[in-house]
Amino acid sequence: MECRVIGMWGGFPKKNGPCSGYLIQHDGFSLLIDCGSGVLTALQNYIDLNDIDHVILTHYHYDHFSDIGAYLFSRLVNTHLGRADEELCVYGPEDEDMKKQVEAVAYSRFSSFNEESQLEIGPFTCTFVRNIHPVETYSIKIVCDNKSIVFTSDTSFTNDLILFAANADLLITECSLYEGMDGAASGHMTSEHAGILAYQSNAKKVLLTHLPHYGDLNDLVVSAKKQGNENIDLAEPGMLIEL
Ligand SMILES: [Zn+2]
Ligand SMILES: [Zn+2]
Repeated sequence: MECRVIGMWGGFPKKNGPCSGYLIQHDGFSLLIDCGSGVLTALQNYIDLNDIDHVILTHYHYDHFSDIGAYLFSRLVNTHLGRADEELCVYGPEDEDMKKQVEAVAYSRFSSFNEESQLEIGPFTCTFVRNIHPVETYSIKIVCDNKSIVFTSDTSFTNDLILFAANADLLITECSLYEGMDGAASGHMTSEHAGILAYQSNAKKVLLTHLPHYGDLNDLVVSAKKQGNENIDLAEPGMLIEL
């Protein structure tokens, strides 16, 4: 299994720097996690849009889902052009508006998930835990071939995440705030929280993501590592992690 970071900025994209998007691949099968602002154009540096048929959205904040509308249109047009022959399956938290938006475009289908769900998508088994965030949001665990990737999406720190991410081969944890800031109020984690999660879950490799548009990002890594897990880096667009 491998994971390509497509984008990792929190809130809004930087110039040529997309928001949340992660391409998970194994044996020629591809799954996109989140499709935030800027993801659709950057994604095409690595894969033809018609070669992805499954997209999981962790929640409906624009930095995680705003490019899905354009993805639906690409599938519509490319199906008519004979370049795609599969539906685009979009998975997300239950939401009537999102279901209507997806299914209003031909060749696209919506399925909801929640904390009880176990989705089998190609070679990937996906499970979820509910986050602490202003809208319904889930962390996701993807297991394939005895390897696991856990992506927290957006959340305040919660002890549930430690168990959920236990011994993950790759933990992609949000790190929206610098040490000392108030994560609980905004539904996000500081670098200290991300470090505690990295250490207590015993994750083998850790990427800090959903990064802030201010300050020295290296301070996030220094702060997170202080909690005891040394294998922590910043997520960067285009980064490939092979497990
Ligand atoms: Zn976000
Ligand atoms: Zn959010």
